[in-house]
Amino acid sequence: MFAHAKSIPHLSTGDILRKEMADKTQLGEKIAPIINAGKLIPDERIIDVIKHRLQSKDCANGFVLDGFPRTTAQAIALDIMLSQLRMELDAVLLLNASKKEIVRRLSGRRVCIQCGKIYTVDYKKSVCEKCGGRLGIRDDDKPEVIERRLEVYEKQTAPLVDYYREKDLILEINGEQSPEKVLNDVLAVLP
Ligand code: AMP
Repeated sequence: MFAHAKSIPHLSTGDILRKEMADKTQLGEKIAPIINAGKLIPDERIIDVIKHRLQSKDCANGFVLDGFPRTTAQAIALDIMLSQLRMELDAVLLLNASKKEIVRRLSGRRVCIQCGKIYTVDYKKSVCEKCGGRLGIRDDDKPEVIERRLEVYEKQTAPLVDYYREKDLILEINGEQSPEKVLNDVLAVLP
């Protein structure tokens, strides 16, 4: 939503990787078992994907990274990429939500098995409003995989909060609010 509001690309590594899986590319076939188990794919692979993407013309005026970096090695690689592109991060958004709310949202999220459109926990219909397809659950939104993803976050991604705090880039947002309120807060705090 924020990227849309600013007319810059929204680079979601999860979306990019899920497309590779749906298209059954070589990369998609390799990473599917890792993603479906709730683990992170190897740093080199995702760094390569982002490196390519950031060099595209549409990123020249800015971009929003969503789901990257997720490890310290990825954050260091991003610093190097950005300095080569003569760019800098404006901010790192930390959307705070309790474990209970995260589990509620992930376990209630649905995806259209036909077109891939994602619905939040608040969508109450059982078919896709875009194509009429049936809704299913993402393999990595199953309860045992959600637990694993939260553990992975604590171990591998949470240390990045200090990494970016030291660079004075962290902006904290109350992520438990509605999407509209979160967007408002993001627009209000960003430089
Ligand atoms: P997401 O939609 O952002 O929750 O990502 C879904 C899954 O894709 C994650 O659980 C990981 O398996 C994989 N993934 C996404 N981004 C990354 C990343 N930066 N590093 C490693 N794996 C990633």
